[in-house]
Amino acid sequence: MAKVFLIGAGPGDPELMTLKAARALRAADVVLVDELVHRGCLAHARPGARIIEVGKRGGSQSTPQVFIEKMMLKIVDAGQTVARLKGGDPFVFGRGGEEMQALLEAGVEVEVIPGITAGIGVPAALGIPVTHREIACGVTFVTGRTRDGREPNWEALARSGTTLVVYMGLRRLEQIASRLGKAGLPEATPACAIENGTLRTQREIVSTLAGLPAAAARARLASPAIIVVGEVVRFARASALEPKARAA
Ligand code: SAH
Repeated sequence: MAKVFLIGAGPGDPELMTLKAARALRAADVVLVDELVHRGCLAHARPGARIIEVGKRGGSQSTPQVFIEKMMLKIVDAGQTVARLKGGDPFVFGRGGEEMQALLEAGVEVEVIPGITAGIGVPAALGIPVTHREIACGVTFVTGRTRDGREPNWEALARSGTTLVVYMGLRRLEQIASRLGKAGLPEATPACAIENGTLRTQREIVSTLAGLPAAAARARLASPAIIVVGEVVRFARASALEPKARAA
């Protein structure tokens, strides 16, 4: 029976995709791919497989979620296997949960294939160990772009003793840094922003909580970018960057 593979493509460099993801891609008749996914990942698709690009990043008009879900149901109904390829891990700020729910409710078989999320893989490419035992007692992932304006509990985050990783936070970087500062996180806390992590086009700004917004603005850092705040950022080093994949 036809099914849907819900696949994480990893943080950027196509070599960071899993073997299992590559196998699922080979099995698919139709590949639905998000914009953030490196086109090199599609090299594993079967020749002749239909590739459909869905979703646009960074606030531009994206393919409506409902439309994507309907499209997958239609393809599976026609007896074809779908590979739904999403950036990073499908369940980390990726709406993979919503897609899985819609498919399961329609009685479609779903196999989830996890991927390396940007929040771990991108700092790692700089040599940042997000949960270094002596420095951080954990890591917290938050999004800077909250639905219906809800904010994370910045006070709790500032007190948590965990490394903070912010997805989709670049546009609100100044606000995020000031909220964290007011919440009690020292302004000198190391902080960095990494654009196009693990790719040849990677750029990073290493600074402090107080200095990062202006530094990122000066460098005209752009999306996709991830923000890391915490003492572990001291490990950041450019020498950890090679080898990088060619940008799409
Ligand atoms: N499911 C994805 C996240 C999707 S949300 C994952 O698990 O990684 C998109 C956000 O992820 C971007 O706004 C950015 O904050 C982050 N991101 C994804 N790829 C990135 C990359 N190569 N470099 C830096 N940040 C990235």
